[in-house]
Amino acid sequence: MDRRLRVAIIGGGIGGVALAVSLHKLAANVAVDIYEAAPSFPDIGAGVMLWRRTWEIIQALGLADELSVFASGRIEDGGHTMHMRKSDEKEAPTTEMVQSGGMAFHRSHLLASLRKHIPDSCSIHFAKRLQTYTRSLTGDIQVTFADGTQATHDLVVGCDGVNSAVRGVLYGTFAEEAKNAGESSKAAEYASKVDPVWSETVVYRGLAPRAVLEKTVPDHPAFSRNALLLGKDKHIILYPIAQGKLINVVALVSRQASEGTKYGKSWIREATNEEVLREYAGWEPLAIETLAAMERTDLWAINVVPTLPTYIGDGVALVGDAAHAMATHLGAGAGQAIEDAFVLASLLAHPAVTDEILPHALRAYDEVRRPFSQWVADRSRECGLTEEFNVLPQTSDPVLDLQEVVKRMRELFSFLKETSAMADRHKAVAMLEAAVGK
Ligand SMILES: Cc1cc2nc3c(=O)[nH]c(=O)nc-3n(C[C@H](O)[C@H](O)[C@H](O)COP(=O)(O)OP(=O)(O)OC[C@H]3O[C@@H](n4cnc5c(N)ncnc54)[C@H](O)[C@@H]3O)c2cc1C
Repeated sequence: MDRRLRVAIIGGGIGGVALAVSLHKLAANVAVDIYEAAPSFPDIGAGVMLWRRTWEIIQALGLADELSVFASGRIEDGGHTMHMRKSDEKEAPTTEMVQSGGMAFHRSHLLASLRKHIPDSCSIHFAKRLQTYTRSLTGDIQVTFADGTQATHDLVVGCDGVNSAVRGVLYGTFAEEAKNAGESSKAAEYASKVDPVWSETVVYRGLAPRAVLEKTVPDHPAFSRNALLLGKDKHIILYPIAQGKLINVVALVSRQASEGTKYGKSWIREATNEEVLREYAGWEPLAIETLAAMERTDLWAINVVPTLPTYIGDGVALVGDAAHAMATHLGAGAGQAIEDAFVLASLLAHPAVTDEILPHALRAYDEVRRPFSQWVADRSRECGLTEEFNVLPQTSDPVLDLQEVVKRMRELFSFLKETSAMADRHKAVAMLEAAVGK
């Protein structure tokens, strides 16, 4: 390309920052602007897991040593043992599950480390909420923000999360085009992809200081390893972060038959420990003491993006939650956003990419990343249903029921060690090269 490809990254969350850093490390000939709706980089959330697949990318970007400092758990352990309990029984049966290696981070540590690698050459614009974009006759993409300002780019990448405005414009346009072509059912199908839907789950999130828990549960299993407390329609995920000083608590409650509906209330709000404890009434004391120790509790309704038929449009791509916000049960959403970003950056970095070749690069991105990330989303959903005893038939023996659940979960998590993100990148690049004859 004679001039630099002008890329607009809409959204400065994990996906947007990972894309900016990947482009910086891989693609010299790209000019990058990040447009973030918030007045500064948002810092919400608590713990986040990264698995072996995503860690390959962190290594390829040369960030592994720096990030390892903040991590609990080690990829190279080759696996860690997760403590499992059926905690809706007063005498909770327990077992262990060996997991492939994963690294747990405080989200703010992970994001701060990634952001340090955004180069000065990348322009960051805060308080810029994308409202719409249009493609001009010359092929430029004109981006319009809520404050009325505009910018011109060659490629717009929607990294703007589950409520993505970029996805809204993309699928709104598809729907309009289908309607104009007289294809009303297709138009309705496209229109149904604009808004996210409720996954049927709400999550209470918080951090429990180890120092507090030591007084009530001195031998708490989550001091030394990840723990999963399971029960009908509910489960609690626990893992140590901040070098073990804090226990990340993720307590999920599913409302059967609500899947696919609109969650009418505020998606994120502060909750009280009493509210969480009411939900978990009757659970074993270890669960109750852990929930009671949370310092501050937020409720998140988990909304997901309906399965999209494409992640790309004319000069547009979707990355991360904008494309595939998913159930949280595999702890894979952030990792999938990083994988999207890395594969897309690898394609944009290819020397063959010109204005004419850009659509081929986007197609390779879509063909490799969409099936895989949607498969992960399906698996994540199934994992939640399994963990909450809604898939496998239950017997009168809770020990046996727990063992069967663990067996299936092991299968569901197996891709984390059996598949490779780098292989997907090679596949996408090979697809691009085959398409353009290089
Ligand atoms: C309870 C919970 C636990 C989770 N645990 C894990 C885990 O352990 N491991 C894991 O891998 N994943 C986990 N996830 C998923 C993970 O948090 C998300 O998949 C990830 O944050 C997605 O990153 P993103 O950059 O795509 O979107 P986001 O992080 O949502 O970032 C989007 C950004 O875009 C900005 N924005 C929005 N609209 C606009 C606009 N119109 N214009 C400009 N900017 C805009 C926002 O302000 C934000 O900064 C969890 C999620 C939840 C809810």
